[in-house]
Amino acid sequence: MTHVIDGNEIADEIQVELQDCIDDLETAGVTPSLATVLMSDDDASETYVSMKQRACKEFGIDGIHHELDASAPAEELFDTVDTLNDDPDVNGILVQMPVPDHVDNASILRRIDPSKDIDGFHPENVGRLVAGDPRFKPCTPSGIQKLLGAADVETNGANAVIVGRSDIVGKPMANLLVQKAAGGNATVTVCHSRTADLGTKTRQADIVIAAAGTPELIDGSMISDGTAVIDVGVNRVDVSEQRSEDSRRESDQSNTEKGYEIVGDVHFESAKAKASAITPVPGGVGPMTIAMLMYNTVKAASIQHNVEIDLP
Ligand code: NAD
Repeated sequence: MTHVIDGNEIADEIQVELQDCIDDLETAGVTPSLATVLMSDDDASETYVSMKQRACKEFGIDGIHHELDASAPAEELFDTVDTLNDDPDVNGILVQMPVPDHVDNASILRRIDPSKDIDGFHPENVGRLVAGDPRFKPCTPSGIQKLLGAADVETNGANAVIVGRSDIVGKPMANLLVQKAAGGNATVTVCHSRTADLGTKTRQADIVIAAAGTPELIDGSMISDGTAVIDVGVNRVDVSEQRSEDSRRESDQSNTEKGYEIVGDVHFESAKAKASAITPVPGGVGPMTIAMLMYNTVKAASIQHNVEIDLP
């Protein structure tokens, strides 16, 4: 029987565990706070930011939101980040990516105070992760690591194949899984758009983590029996792009009415037939990313206010 990993359930458990930490901070007079900054007209980015703000409310974290016109000069975004860096009431800063083309992504990530960089994308935090002394682990990979642990997927000694080498998912995922630490100790292969014969690599894996942004790239023929399959992909597919009714799941119905559906990077049904465990899209990795963002914000508050808490 394949274990369909319920990311919502595991994220709810993290919320319960984090509550004690938030209570301890409150006792010390600290309410963790997260500032989100949106400089985009993109629907999906707006949705992601509002989901993060909603999570703040649910977790009891102060959510502050700044919205900039997508055509505003880059300086406006730099100034906003500087103001948030200097504000002692802000513990975490998240600039929703991507920013418009006229703003240099890397400069923005470098501008955020590393002690408030709850995404873990500042070079200082990337370096600490690689060196095995992470301050803020990037939210999606650390959510996946928690999810693997909660689903009893053994990473120690496992062959893990990651499909995708982005700075926000693929590379930090590889760095976490390769660490000599709990939830690590895997033998990691990172595949990307230039990888020859992807299926040969993924068929050798005990764990496949698909983060390519390509709808249903990995199907059942590309994995071996008993593999744990983690689907990171979130792809909007026009409903007119005919896929079999079988591959549509109930959770897609509300989007189908809007003319699109969300599919992952894994062909769920054929992969599920072989996998020992698999995450659905939606309801797998997504909720974990948000839970880990709240986790990092709570951690940032405890570091900045020097309050000791027992993080799960
Ligand atoms: P990206 O576009 O930055 O990187 C994609 C990577 O996949 C690249 O390294 C590319 O080389 C590789 N790739 C693309 N096509 C490939 C192919 N055919 N074979 C092998 N490798 C291929 O994307 P990203 O930001 O890492 O995101 C990946 C996916 O995960 C997207 O669908 C994104 O929406 C989703 N995502 C989900 C969450 C979440 O919380 N659920 C968070 C971040 C990203």
